[in-house]
Formats: sequence, C-alpha cells, structure tokens
Amino acid sequence: MLEEAILKGPLGDIAEKVFQGERLNREDGLRLMETNDLLAIGYLADYARRRKVGDEVYFINNAHINYTNVCRNLCRFCAFGRTPDAEGAYTLSLEEIAEKARQFKKYNPTEIHIVGGLNPEIPFSYYENMLRIIKEILPQAHLQAFDAVEIAFLSEISGLSLKEVLVRLREAGLGSLPGGGAEIFNPEIRQRICPRKISGEQWLEVHAVAHSLGIRSNATMLYGHIESLADRIDHLLALRRLQDETGGFLAFIPLPFHPSNTGLSELPPTTGYDDLKTLAIARLLLDNFDHIKAFWIMLTPKMAQIALNFGVDDLDGTVREERIAHDAGAETPQYQPAEEFLRLIREAGRVPVERDTLYNIVRRYP
Ligand code: SF4
Repeated sequence: MLEEAILKGPLGDIAEKVFQGERLNREDGLRLMETNDLLAIGYLADYARRRKVGDEVYFINNAHINYTNVCRNLCRFCAFGRTPDAEGAYTLSLEEIAEKARQFKKYNPTEIHIVGGLNPEIPFSYYENMLRIIKEILPQAHLQAFDAVEIAFLSEISGLSLKEVLVRLREAGLGSLPGGGAEIFNPEIRQRICPRKISGEQWLEVHAVAHSLGIRSNATMLYGHIESLADRIDHLLALRRLQDETGGFLAFIPLPFHPSNTGLSELPPTTGYDDLKTLAIARLLLDNFDHIKAFWIMLTPKMAQIALNFGVDDLDGTVREERIAHDAGAETPQYQPAEEFLRLIREAGRVPVERDTLYNIVRRYP
C-alpha cells in the first residue's frame, strides 16, 4: 500500500531506483533532503537496509578512553578540547591508562575505542606505548584508535609519513581507525567551524592510506550546525567515492551537533525529524556501505531505537565513560548494558547480534 503510494507520489522516480537497486545521484539526494515526507524516506531506507543486511541489529561490548582533552585546534563546535592551563584540562599518564584498562577487564570488552585532543606536549612514543600497554592487559580487545585528525598530527610531530605512522601504530596494536574528524568536508564551512583542523581532502587521504594497508575505518558527518543540505549530500558522495575505490569503510555514523558549551551555543540542537531523515538518506545514498550506525550516546537511546526503522542496523556499544559528547551537553547515560540493547532491538521487532569491531558475530541472541 505504502509502496504504491510512494511510487505514485513526488518521490516515485527515486523510489523506483531504490526498488531496482539503482544508485541515487546528487539530485536525488537533494530532493530527499528537501522533502518533508519522512515516512516515505524511512520506508525506502528500511527497504534498502533489509536488502543489504537483513533484520539483524548490531551492538558491541566496548569501552572508551579519551586520553587527553588538551587540544591545539579548539574547534568551535567542540566542548571537549581545552588549552593546557584551562580548568579541567587533563592528560592521562600511561599508568592511568593502564589502570582504566585493568578496570575494564571484568567486562571483557571486545573493543577499546581511543580518541583525544591534539596535545603537542605528548611524544609519539606515548601513543605507541599506550596501545602496547592496553593490548597487554586486554589482549583479546581490538583497539580502534586515533581518528584521521590525530593520525595527521602524529605524522606532523614525528616527521613520519602517514603510512609509516599507521604501520608503527599497527605494530603496537592498532586495529582500525574511528571515523571522527570528518565534520563536514565543505572547505568554507570547515574554515568557519574548525579552521585549524586538517582539510576534508586530508581526512580522506588518511583513510585512503589506512585502507591501502588493510586497516579498516569508519566514517562520520557532523550535521545540524551551519552547513547546508547540499553540503551534507556532497559529504556523503565524497565518502561513497572513496568507498568505491577502497571498500575499506565499515560503517557510516552521522553525528548530530550538540551546541551546549561550544563556540556555536547560539544554534538550536537538531530535531528528531532531521536526525531520522539524515540517517535514512545516508542509507539510501551510501549504497556501498554495509552499516549505518545510530550512535545512541549522541542521539539518545529512544531516537536510536526509532532509527532502526530508518535505515539503521547498528547501535554502537556499551561505551562506558564517554567525555566528548557529554562535555557538549549530551544527557544520555555513559553506559548501557547489553540487556538494554536487547530490549531496544527486540521491541523494534529485530534480531540483536553482538559483534566485534570488524562485524564478526560474537553472539546472536534468540
Ligand atoms: S574536535 Fe577534536 S580537534 Fe577539534 S577541538 Fe575538539 S578534540 Fe580538538
């Protein structure tokens, strides 16, 4: 019924492409962004999701370590980064990191997610040692560490090429790269929200080099600030192009902007409507990505659950102590046990599957 109505409606030609498995173009993406027919977009994204990954919904037993919030970039949208002498500035010692890893041991996490600010006082050896120490304490955990911005920074401070940095980190225990730092690729918007950050092209280059070494990664987009809808579509298309070339991305994670405590605090937060639309359009445009993730920490568990009907097949993980979104006013809890994922996923009529970082199945729940 709904399918017929969509085919007869203003999005009919786009729906036809989705049902035929044809790739959508920029124009299609813009039209989807501009329409208010959220249910039609959701229906199409749900269709595309089911065809791609079926009814399973993934989550991971993981933990986060944010090793420093000292950052020389001080992006305007970020409430986490600080100058070294600012109140609350911290850098964890290797012993403190070891202590955290020891505390996580009882949860048996399959992944440790590690990101932090760009602190010029920390030498390259700290990063290698951090990975070695965590790996020693949690040998079974996959280390997803250092986004493209940090990798480019490490190349700068060490004088090593991107490739050499990645190879050295992999030798120390690096498993894959998180998707942060992508923000919005449009250079003018980037100039206004994070002028000191590497360019969108450099971000893509770091991921291309990682993929060429067999290091997988994720991709993100920070939306809901001063970017246009066309900027979002162009961002998605740039990711799709790189994925066509390398196939190295695991998942795409749209991140709604949280304005509290940032240099853009005058902006309103994103709406639920915008969040669902953005997730659904990502599923429709990124036909070469297997997984679209609703990061519950930034979206709230309730929205993440509804997003399961809007193209999403992954809810991220248990997390345990997250600082970046919470410094920007996220009011979600910092930890969500596996039972909560089971409840959210089952209530949505889907099948909960615990995965590892590379989407190998750890446990399929009945
Ligand atoms: S977003 Fe990253 S690079 Fe920018 S200030 Fe925050 S921690 Fe630093």
